[in-house]
Amino acid sequence: MPLNTTENHFVCRVCGGTAAPTGAGTAHRNHCPHCLCSIHLDETPGDRASRCGGVMDPICVWVRRGGEWAIIHRCRRCGVLHSNRVAADDNSFRLLSIAVQPLANPPFPLDYLSRMEDK
Ligand SMILES: [Zn+2]
Ligand SMILES: [Zn+2]
Repeated sequence: MPLNTTENHFVCRVCGGTAAPTGAGTAHRNHCPHCLCSIHLDETPGDRASRCGGVMDPICVWVRRGGEWAIIHRCRRCGVLHSNRVAADDNSFRLLSIAVQPLANPPFPLDYLSRMEDK
């Protein structure tokens, strides 16, 4: 008999992907490992205190002390920002594409940097 029933599985409201609610190095999964979207349910991680329920988009990646990656999620409905630990089974290609987004679309020409270095 499988330990996990379907009700225990996290089903993503954005992409429809499923994942086990625990494991992958996190006690409470708060974002989808496939599209990395989250749902605004918590005020602080795990408390389920928010009544917003909006979809939270992963907008950037930052590095915590010790080199651990975390995702910044922004709620589409209320605009709140949350920081969430990256789980071991998160889609690494999607993580990287979020991390390089500012470099892929720089607000200034990149050769500007080399000109600054020459001075
Ligand atoms: Zn998803
Ligand atoms: Zn919200």
